[in-house]
Amino acid sequence: MEIVRSHRKSSAGGPVPTLSFYRSAPPLEVRLEDFELFAMDRLRVLHGISDGLSRGKKATEMDDLVSELWREHMRHPDTTEIINKDIISHFVLRLVYCRTEDLRKWFLSMETTLFRSRFRFASAEAQIMLMNECELPLKALTHDEFKDVKDELGQVARSINQPLPTDDSIFFKIPFEEVPELVAARSVYLRKGYGYVAVNQVVSLVANQFRSHLSKALVLTNRKWTTTIRELEKDRLTPIVEGLSTRYLGPDYSQPKEYAEISLKDIDQIARSSFSLCMRHLFYKLREDHHLKHGGRMQLGLFLKGVGLKLDDALAFWRAEFSQKVGSERFEKEYAYNIRHNYGKEGKRTDYTPYSCQRIITSTPGVGDHHGCPYRHFSEENLRAALGNMGVTGRSVDDIMEKVQNRHYQLACTLTFEAIHSCPHDAGINHPNQYFIDSRKILQPKADSVGGS
Ligand code: SF4
Repeated sequence: MEIVRSHRKSSAGGPVPTLSFYRSAPPLEVRLEDFELFAMDRLRVLHGISDGLSRGKKATEMDDLVSELWREHMRHPDTTEIINKDIISHFVLRLVYCRTEDLRKWFLSMETTLFRSRFRFASAEAQIMLMNECELPLKALTHDEFKDVKDELGQVARSINQPLPTDDSIFFKIPFEEVPELVAARSVYLRKGYGYVAVNQVVSLVANQFRSHLSKALVLTNRKWTTTIRELEKDRLTPIVEGLSTRYLGPDYSQPKEYAEISLKDIDQIARSSFSLCMRHLFYKLREDHHLKHGGRMQLGLFLKGVGLKLDDALAFWRAEFSQKVGSERFEKEYAYNIRHNYGKEGKRTDYTPYSCQRIITSTPGVGDHHGCPYRHFSEENLRAALGNMGVTGRSVDDIMEKVQNRHYQLACTLTFEAIHSCPHDAGINHPNQYFIDSRKILQPKADSVGGS
C-alpha cells in the first residue's frame, strides 16, 4: 500500500518520522549511561500509563495523560535526539521485558496503549507513513472516487459528530469485515463490500498491527537474549537489563525528608496513623512476638531509618523488643551489628536505601516471615481484617479488594490512604516512605493547629 495524497512536509523537506513500528534496532552508537537513562525515562512513561489504566481512565483521558507523560519524560530540544531516545529506549526495554511471560504481557499492553495515543496525536503525514508500513488491505481513495462518495461521507460524519470531509481529507476503502466495530457502531459508510474510513478511524487497525508485530519481536528477542546476549554481555549490559524491570524510579528516601523525623516516644502513635499497611503489620508483629526474621528486620529497619529514626533510637527500639525474646547479650552479639550496618556504620559503610513498593511486592516471604506487601501476600480474610483494624470499612473495602483481585496492589494501597485520610492521593503510592511523608503532611498541620488553639 502506497499512500500519496499528503502534501505537508517537515522543514527538513521530508515527512517527520515521529512514530514507528520499531522494525529493527537502529545502527546507533549508544553511551552506556544513555542506554540506562533513556530506558528509565520510557519506563516512567509506561508506569504512568499502567497507573492511568488501573485507575480506569477513559480513552480521551488516557490520550491526555500519555501526551503529558511523553512531554515530561521524553522531550529533548533536538528533534533528532527525541527520535533516537524514543527508538533506543524502546529497544532497551524490549531486552528488559522479553525475559518472562508476565514481563512481555505488561510491556506489550503498555507499549500498545502508548502507540495508540501517539498515533491519534500524530500529524496526518506521520499517520500515513505508518499506514504505508502496515500490510493492511487499505486503499486510499482516488480524487474521483472521493468526489463520488463525498456527500455520503458527510452524512456519516454528521451522524457521529465528526468534522465534514473537505477536498484535502484522506479516506480509505477497506473490506468491511476488517472493521466490525465501526460497522456495528454505524460510523462508517459501506458500499459494495467496502467500508470507507477516515484516517483517524484506522487507529485500532494500526494499533493491532503494532501489537502483533511487537508480540512476535519480543519472543524472538527472548530467544536471542537467552542464547547469546545474556552471556556475551554478562559484565556490561546484563546487570543493567536485569535490574531495570524492578528499578524504583521515584524519589530517594535513604535520608529523612520533610516531616520525616520520629522519636521513640511518638513511634506507636505515628505507626497507628501514618504507617502503610506493610510497615504497620511488621511493627505490630515485632511488638507482639518481640522478634522478626531477617526480611522483616530489613524492610522495617530501613523504612524507620528513612523516616528519621536516629541510629541510637533504632538500637534502643530493636533492643527493647528483641531482648524480651533472646536476651540483651544475644541481641548485642547477633542483631545490633546489622542495625549499625543498615545505617552505614559497619562493613562496606554503604548507606542502605529503604525498599520501594515494587521491591516489597515482588519479594517472596516464606513461612513465619512477615515482610512483603499485605495486598499481595495476605489471604483475603486477613487483608479484610487488617483493613478493618486500620479503620477502613464499607464500600472502601470492596473497592480495595477489587483492585487487589486485579493485582493492582499499589492502587489498593492508594485507596486505603485516601479512605484513612479522607482526601485524594492523585500521585499514587510507590513507596512506604512516601506514604508516611504524605500522611504526615496531612495530619501534622492538623495536629499543630489543634495544639495551638
Ligand atoms: S503498596 Fe507499598 S506501601 Fe502499600 S503496603 Fe504494599 S508495599 Fe507497603
